[in-house]
Amino acid sequence: MSTDQNGTDAQEDTHINVADGIDHQVAMVMDLNKCIGCQTCTIACKTLWTEDGGSEYMYWNNVETKPGEGYPRGWEESGGGWQSEEHKERKTGEIPDQEDYGRAWEFNHSEIMYEGSDEPLRPRDGAEWGPNWDEDRGAGEYPNSYYFYLPRICNHCTHPSCVEACPRSALYKREEDGIVLVDQDRCRGYRYCVEGCPYKKVYYNTVSKKSEKCIFCYPRLEGEGPDGETYAPACAEECPPQLRLVGFADDEEGPIYKLIEEYEVALPLHPEFHTQPNVYYIPPYAPPQHTDDGETVDVDRIPRDYLRKLFGDRVDEALDTIERERQIVRQGGESELMEILQDKNPADQYRLEVFEDG
Ligand code: SF4
Ligand code: SF4
Repeated sequence: MSTDQNGTDAQEDTHINVADGIDHQVAMVMDLNKCIGCQTCTIACKTLWTEDGGSEYMYWNNVETKPGEGYPRGWEESGGGWQSEEHKERKTGEIPDQEDYGRAWEFNHSEIMYEGSDEPLRPRDGAEWGPNWDEDRGAGEYPNSYYFYLPRICNHCTHPSCVEACPRSALYKREEDGIVLVDQDRCRGYRYCVEGCPYKKVYYNTVSKKSEKCIFCYPRLEGEGPDGETYAPACAEECPPQLRLVGFADDEEGPIYKLIEEYEVALPLHPEFHTQPNVYYIPPYAPPQHTDDGETVDVDRIPRDYLRKLFGDRVDEALDTIERERQIVRQGGESELMEILQDKNPADQYRLEVFEDG
């Protein structure tokens, strides 16, 4: 698929656009209506990739509660990305403090396990912030409070500002699938990439003094397991409600292409950062508000303004499309969109071998 640079701002940030020189682009779609905030994905990623010295604080995959400040704290206001869709001028960004990520806490394990204390298990002093510190807090007033979970990985952007920010060209986009990687031999730990990524999805390892980030589990995609089989990234495979579809954005027969391009219900997070993410989200919908007496009123529980802030103006149309298709099914009709969103066949959820011979 060729690069179309002529679209409007919204089109450029929402529609499939494979970067110059990249054969195909891997992508993920996450249905936020299914996320239960269990953090299985976070732990699957953590145990596979970031258990070594210096990476204790890193969560390449994290799940945060929205509304909330997220991980690292305040990342949405930390700058980075591009000034405009032309991708000529980057925006200034900040490097988060260790406190904004949250320091690893010490727990009273030894007192409980070896000294017979009957205290509850809890962190010692210093637990002031951490990943998903905002858990389940949300916003709004009873009986109309609301929150939802937002799982985040590196978006393997089509126009990655982290790549552009590195003066050593240590970050690069793989030609065969658009995965964004850090060449550990070239990296000198300048941290321009940390500053440049508006999603704060590059991390600095203080022990190795190099940057690290989500690698989209590329060895699993390449079949480097014991049996030479191809597997989807661990965050997707391990997710209990199976809310992640993995494949190629430019695979026109696949569900990802249909959700992004045909039904336009899968949207990038913060399109105004102009990096053009390749992780897309089905926006959350919630029951309408209630009065104190429990009567239903026709007011959105999750304010649309808030969703527009996260997913851009196209969120209205996306939610309307989903509601329309749900209605069709409720009335006994058929909906391809609803079938895609409920499909539990791994061959459809993970279409990773379609371009292998191409
Ligand atoms: S999300 Fe950040 S780290 Fe990942 S490709 Fe985009 S700009 Fe780079
Ligand atoms: S494993 Fe799935 S359901 Fe659990 S937090 Fe991660 S994305 Fe959400």
